[in-house]
Amino acid sequence: MRHEPVGPQRPFASIRQYRAKIIGRVGTVQFNFFDSNPDAWPCIRCEGRGRIYIPSGLYEIRGDDIECPCCKGTRVCPRKEFVAAYRKIIENYLAQKRRFKTLSQARRQALKKLTAIERESLQVLGV
Ligand SMILES: [Zn+2]
Repeated sequence: MRHEPVGPQRPFASIRQYRAKIIGRVGTVQFNFFDSNPDAWPCIRCEGRGRIYIPSGLYEIRGDDIECPCCKGTRVCPRKEFVAAYRKIIENYLAQKRRFKTLSQARRQALKKLTAIERESLQVLGV
């Protein structure tokens, strides 16, 4: 039995779902802030934390936790920046989906050209 590989899955159904995913990863204080301010958009760089971690060196475990240079520690960004980041993710997903569809069609067409015994012989490869 041949299985068609599952293609790329859309990472977020909507921009609100993307926002919810990001604020679901921050700490309680930040979550409460974003949860009670639905029109506040989390900074993309620090994901709404207001601080970022900078590793101090390749072999050092401890790095520095500094104020996010993007939002200056405010944890928020303009909506248009958030929308741009979301669109970039969705465009990347759509490009992967198009590539997957192209490869799937090519694979089906290639398999149609084979004889029954050739197709059967490929089953050992999981094709
Ligand atoms: Zn930030």
